Amino acid sequence: MTPQRQARRELLSSAPTIIEVSHVHKWYGEFHVLRDVNLSVTKGERIVICGPSGSGKSTLIRCINRLEEHQKGNIIVDGTELTNDVKNIEVIRREVGMVFQQFNLFPHLTVLENCTLAPIWVKKMPKKDAEAIAMKYLERVRIPDQAHKYPGQLSGGQQQRVAIARSLCMSPKIMLFDEPTSALDPEMVKEVLDVMISLAEEGMTMLCVTHEMGFAKSVADRVIFMDRGEIIEQNQPDEFFNNPQSDRTKLFLSQIL
Ligand code: ADP
Ligand code: MG
Repeated sequence: MTPQRQARRELLSSAPTIIEVSHVHKWYGEFHVLRDVNLSVTKGERIVICGPSGSGKSTLIRCINRLEEHQKGNIIVDGTELTNDVKNIEVIRREVGMVFQQFNLFPHLTVLENCTLAPIWVKKMPKKDAEAIAMKYLERVRIPDQAHKYPGQLSGGQQQRVAIARSLCMSPKIMLFDEPTSALDPEMVKEVLDVMISLAEEGMTMLCVTHEMGFAKSVADRVIFMDRGEIIEQNQPDEFFNNPQSDRTKLFLSQIL
């Protein structure tokens, strides 16, 4: 184990748990999409989730901010259990930011308006303050000069950086990324990954569904492999990539690496 990895491990071992997923099952109609998923995430931990298409990766992270409902088991996020209680869901939505493959920006709002919408309407923040915070985050993702443009006038990489800035404007404690670079042209992948790396370095708790294995190797504390609704294997990246245990993991890695 490298000294950096050892230091990370020690840091995380004393940090509190921020997400606890216990024996979670979910069905879409008859289809059993999550099968007894257990996952405990430490504050500040960076997790990469990979696995074949259709294995339930998006469903799992969407359950963590209640974009999807689970039917069995428990999910506790920062001390709040996810139930049908609308108050709990509101708390979670403020604390958990999400970035999607397709950016999901509002096309009829400017970049700045995309970033200030939730702080103004959900957090009841004065417009001036919301704009100041938005500009701070647009600077962080290095596109303050695009603030008054519309999403359609931006490249994919720029749009995804706006989406990240927009999430950060709500001061989330956890960030979920669902294949954030999969819809991007290759030359734009790095600019988005660089923003994610800087977030990780600042201590953000992150769950990233991605097939960017370079990112997984350099940033993840833990890589999780899912197949057919189950967590099949998880390990620190060196072990995960160099010494996969399950045949399904080996097959998957042979197809993507
Ligand atoms: P992944 O992100 O790993 O590709 P998903 O979580 O998106 O997988 O989907 C897992 C499975 O659930 C897939 O077989 C998919 O077709 C199915 N599925 C996803 N969303 C729905 C839905 N809203 N209704 C019915 N089936 C769904
Ligand atoms: Mg998916």
